[in-house]
Amino acid sequence: MAFELPPLPFGQNALEPHISEQTVYYHYGKHHKTYVDKTNKLVEGTKFANASLETIIKEADGGIYNNGAQAWNHTFYWNSLHPDGGGKPSGDLLGMIERDFGSFEEFQNQFTNSVTTLFGSGWVWLALTKDGKLTVVQKSNAGNPLRDGMTPLLTCDVWEHAYYLDRQNRKPEYVEAFWKLVNWKAVENRL
Ligand code: MN
Repeated sequence: MAFELPPLPFGQNALEPHISEQTVYYHYGKHHKTYVDKTNKLVEGTKFANASLETIIKEADGGIYNNGAQAWNHTFYWNSLHPDGGGKPSGDLLGMIERDFGSFEEFQNQFTNSVTTLFGSGWVWLALTKDGKLTVVQKSNAGNPLRDGMTPLLTCDVWEHAYYLDRQNRKPEYVEAFWKLVNWKAVENRL
């Protein structure tokens, strides 16, 4: 019942020129894989041995939480991106964004601002609250809005390993690249 590293939904060079093949090689093949492997080691002999990653995110603490959440967050991140992504969402999702943020541009500004102001490592999320409202959530380390009873819809990895090889300290450039890759169809399907 071990957790497995899911295949990437695209080739390792498919996100170029926005995110390099080298970044994906290390980020997916080393960082993401290590979180999966460590989760498997840590849950052995605990009550989480046969738990889902979602249960781990909601109930575990310490290393099991950190590694299990990171394993889930990375799969969610890869599935939030697509080489033909970018642009704007449509339909219900766009309507909800306009209802809850005023405009798509205002949502994008809030999300971008949450990425650039996150101190240290973490994740920025678009999530649906229990009351059905869209919100931008800034989380440190392995933080995931599932833990707060929200539904995650989109995430941006704000650990330096996500962009440092390509952009060094230029985090705003990474967010620009991220917007060119967002798979809005996938986000809509999560609603
Ligand atoms: Mn990462």
